[in-house]
Amino acid sequence: MSSACQTCGACCANFRVSFYWAESDDHPGGSVPAHLVIPVTPHHVAMRGTERKPARCIALQGEVGKSVGCSIYLQRSSTCREFMEGTPECNGARAAHGLPALAALAEGA
Ligand code: SF4
Ligand code: SF4
Repeated sequence: MSSACQTCGACCANFRVSFYWAESDDHPGGSVPAHLVIPVTPHHVAMRGTERKPARCIALQGEVGKSVGCSIYLQRSSTCREFMEGTPECNGARAAHGLPALAALAEGA
């Protein structure tokens, strides 16, 4: 988690964080603790707390915009791992929490 993300967490408290159900750890090769997810389609689950509005992932610790952490960082889903700082989606989540936009990370950073 980048230093910007450690003082943000907006994306974990804005979107429905969903992914293929087999990423939960009650399936072979899955990593996300199954008790932290909820079915949202026949083939997808979401992190609990992100299936509703206002969204806040059950694994998010701390205060958005101040100091945050992910309690399942090493087990988080592909959706979480692929979400990039400085993208329009990132800055949209930040704006929703009253946080200023960030520049996109340089390639390979
Ligand atoms: S919204 Fe952007 S800056 Fe904030 S935690 Fe997510 S990726 Fe990091
Ligand atoms: S699992 Fe962690 S990284 Fe993913 S949305 Fe929840 S708090 Fe954020």
